[in-house]
Amino acid sequence: MAERVIPLVDLRSPVLAAPRPLEAIPPSGQLLDGLGRPLRDLRISVTDRCNFRCNYCMPKEIFDRNHHYLPHGALLSFEEITRLARIFVAHGVRKIRLTGGEPLLRKGLEHLVEQLAALRTPDGQPLDLTLTTNGSLLARKARALKDAGLQRVTVSLDALDDAIFRRMNDVDFPVRDVLAGLEAAQAVGLGPIKVNMVVKRDTNDQEILPMARHFRGSGVTLRFIEYMDVGATNGWRMDEVLPSAQVVERIQQELPLVQLSPNAIGETAERWGHAGADGQHDPSLGEIGVISSVTQAFCGDCNRARLSMEGRLYLCLFAGQGYDLRALLRGDMDHGMGRASDAEIASALAAIWQGRTDRYSELRAALPAAAGAAGRRIEMSYIGG
Ligand code: SAM
Ligand code: SF4
Ligand code: SF4
Repeated sequence: MAERVIPLVDLRSPVLAAPRPLEAIPPSGQLLDGLGRPLRDLRISVTDRCNFRCNYCMPKEIFDRNHHYLPHGALLSFEEITRLARIFVAHGVRKIRLTGGEPLLRKGLEHLVEQLAALRTPDGQPLDLTLTTNGSLLARKARALKDAGLQRVTVSLDALDDAIFRRMNDVDFPVRDVLAGLEAAQAVGLGPIKVNMVVKRDTNDQEILPMARHFRGSGVTLRFIEYMDVGATNGWRMDEVLPSAQVVERIQQELPLVQLSPNAIGETAERWGHAGADGQHDPSLGEIGVISSVTQAFCGDCNRARLSMEGRLYLCLFAGQGYDLRALLRGDMDHGMGRASDAEIASALAAIWQGRTDRYSELRAALPAAAGAAGRRIEMSYIGG
């Protein structure tokens, strides 16, 4: 096996000043980017900390005890996050996903959920409000999250085999505690629940079938994610990616599947339904999803924006730079800028989104290896996927 090379990198990406357009751009709910894509999905990372060290995301060698995490004062407060979210919603966002790091490590997260759950779209609808978690604290927090207004959760789980799972999270965390978290989420009605499994060839691909069997008919949708070249610390190699087509093929050999049409425009997962004895999709057996971020680019209808815990806005998972929205919220005395009003923030967001032309996955093959869209990349644990 080739030696794994971990490049030495500065994990903080450069920051761009948010524009302050001279003419106001009020929200119309119909904001389009430079490639005609609307803004619909906002992912908010609430912490850069995690209690796992998944090798593909926060390898121990890099995220060790000398790693500097952001101080609490650098993080957006819940009020600041909600203020930004309200403006994003006015611009057309319909779905908010909380992520991290591990979002459940952020103290009092249910209070943020409560504030976000109270937001309404311009036509009076509640948002699709969800959260991605490693599940380690879910058994304890599911009830409070549900009561606060969270609608559903996605739980990351890379194996059912305890030894493989402990090795992958690299902190010896047992699989049974994540399964207990899943059960608690189901019991309080945080559904429909999705489980995300990142597939790494020769690491956990032998778990594809056991996972598919386990979740078939359970009410949980299992989604297989291709191991991605996010960030610069995980030593990503193409030969460790198992293409989704092969995942489907392996499952098909034992459990018949039929392809289903997408639920929504911009949906990242290709859907496959478990078939019954008649060869048709049997809804009681559920479905699986495959997310082929590496082998099949899906930038054409990408409607996702990402907000980091310190208030930087990223337009692509592979972006090299983020826009400093915190400076708008708090003012930037070094540059003689006061705090921005809601209208000014709305104009800034509009100008940023209108200038967006990111489509990294479509361009990946043409880019030099280990170079992001702008030569450097943010880490998955910083931006949350
Ligand atoms: N800690 C939470 C969790 O693990 O669910 C939320 C943050 S985590 C960064 C979000 C998702 O990104 C997880 O499902 C994780 O498996 C996935 N992820 C992290 N690094 C990845 C990579 N290199 N390729 C594909 N997915 C990755
Ligand atoms: Fe933590 Fe999630 Fe990254 Fe694993 S994938 S290290 S649980 S942030
Ligand atoms: Fe969206 Fe960037 Fe992913 Fe393409 S590579 S789908 S633009 S996040």
